[in-house]
Amino acid sequence: MAPRLTLLTTGGTIAGQAASAADTVGYTAGTLDPAALVAAVPGLDALAELRCEAVFSIDSKDMTPAHWLHLRERVEHHLAQADCNGVVITHGTDTLEETAFFLHLTCPPGKPVVMTAAMRPATALSADGPMNLYQAVAVAAHPGSADQGVLVVVNGQIFAGADIVKTDTEALDAIAAPGRGPLGATGPIRFFHPPAIDHAGSVAASALAGLGELPRVDILYVAAGSAPDLLAAAVRAGARGLVLALPGNGSLPQAWQDAVAQARTAGVAVVRSTRTGHGRVAHAADRSLPPASGELNPAKARIALMLALACGQPELATALFA
Ligand code: ASP
Repeated sequence: MAPRLTLLTTGGTIAGQAASAADTVGYTAGTLDPAALVAAVPGLDALAELRCEAVFSIDSKDMTPAHWLHLRERVEHHLAQADCNGVVITHGTDTLEETAFFLHLTCPPGKPVVMTAAMRPATALSADGPMNLYQAVAVAAHPGSADQGVLVVVNGQIFAGADIVKTDTEALDAIAAPGRGPLGATGPIRFFHPPAIDHAGSVAASALAGLGELPRVDILYVAAGSAPDLLAAAVRAGARGLVLALPGNGSLPQAWQDAVAQARTAGVAVVRSTRTGHGRVAHAADRSLPPASGELNPAKARIALMLALACGQPELATALFA
């Protein structure tokens, strides 16, 4: 019997429409409903029996932590059904890395959760969405996809959801896992190696129960000569945590050191990350410096910090930054 999968749609370019088939930029994201997405993919019904739910219809630039919490709840709801063998989620590429990382940390491991997206709207010549959706469903239906944490399937590649970043504004292969590469490939589906970051489901559902929001954590991008007044402004606006996107290996400019120390004394959690795009931020022997984000880029370090603050579990952030 074909596996039973639930398709959760959230919007994005994969559900976007433009006035012209040649237009890959001037379109409106998230306008197609699940039935239209499925209708554009011949052969899906041979892969799985699909149930659909439109969770949101938004451009993922407008995704917020409140959306993540609601989406997580819908994923958990469907995975808990005995007759649901896995979940496929369509999403915009702009903030795919954030939602994928959040869901990876907060969804129960076990049944497959596979996210997909597209760089070209559904109306475009050679739209990539239908093939991406087909391959995402095929991966979710594959026995090797269980216990992998959240997976992202795009452009013929299978990634660990925790590893991905968007690396290009237009290219079809914009989603990548720099430094790690894909976990596998589609057509035929094969996995090369297991996910390297294994914190799948490390935040228990009970720790998030009833939360409609996450604590505010801001990212401050530090350029040559940036003034540290930004930091005080973020704290005044209610930030309980700050991620600094610093030059190089999380190098904190001297001009920022007093402001950072004052914020930390006032109880604001500060993390040093890097603006380089990828690479690890080394943990400093100097204990007066804020902790480093390890391999997490600023957007992912922000999520780790938000979850640690929301759950009152600083050790969670420490484990994720290791
Ligand atoms: N702005 C779109 C979104 O993130 C881009 C995309 O899906 O590729 O929803």
